[in-house]
Amino acid sequence: MLIAENVHKWYGKFQVLRGVSLTVDQGEVVVIMGPSGSGKSTFIRTFNALEDYQQGRIVIDGTELSDDLRNIDKIRQEVGMVFQQFNLFPHLTVLQNVTLAPTWVRKWSKAKAEEVALQLLERVGILEQAQKYPGQLSGGQQQRVAIARALAMQPKIMLFDEPTSALDPEMVREVLDVMRSLAESGMTMIVVTHEVGFAREVADRIILMDEGLLVETASPIDFFQHPKEERTRKFLAQIL
Ligand code: ATP
Ligand code: MG
Repeated sequence: MLIAENVHKWYGKFQVLRGVSLTVDQGEVVVIMGPSGSGKSTFIRTFNALEDYQQGRIVIDGTELSDDLRNIDKIRQEVGMVFQQFNLFPHLTVLQNVTLAPTWVRKWSKAKAEEVALQLLERVGILEQAQKYPGQLSGGQQQRVAIARALAMQPKIMLFDEPTSALDPEMVREVLDVMRSLAESGMTMIVVTHEVGFAREVADRIILMDEGLLVETASPIDFFQHPKEERTRKFLAQIL
């Protein structure tokens, strides 16, 4: 579903990705952990062309991410992304936030887009908020709208960049529960998070990223209980 091969990226002279390779199969849930500044966001943002890269190769569902704008359009339709800071359109209602891309990009009728949107809002548990504006919702509710909005494009893969880090503690669970049920439905997911419980229970593989490299990749049990790398042990000592 996703192949990244030896991806290198520089910001000026600073090398943020130093040869990163990752293959994610359909239906897999991969959690990426690692210290601040290690390149986690940069790495997953290359997957939908929010960041460019100077060396390496990325192929998503058979489409190579290249300078060809048609490929970038196709990949952006297939890759949904959820950010730490929700990034909803504040002047649009919840329903309009969710129907915007399907009507503009997929050219669905308003009726079809709304039907799908309402189903998704029900799935993430906020159907009754459909006519409200983002500013009228809690952080947890806004993040669930953001998930519904990404799903409305019927992506083949979903990227999450610390989706619960900006939330008050009591709202973390409602967002993680939605992500967990999405994983159980078979969605391919790459999740940057420090939520240990989620990683332990939902991830198929956990990766430690540090200084622009993937340091260790392991099953949740091995990652938390038998890490091979000293760097992973140090990281775990800080977060557990
Ligand atoms: P965090 O856990 O804090 O979100 P991260 O692992 O997601 O960290 P990135 O945001 O990918 O890390 O950043 C990796 C490195 O690249 C950092 O050193 C950061 O300062 C640097 N960086 C990120 N964006 C830019 C930019 N636009 N220009 C220059 N340097 C950048
Ligand atoms: Mg980040």
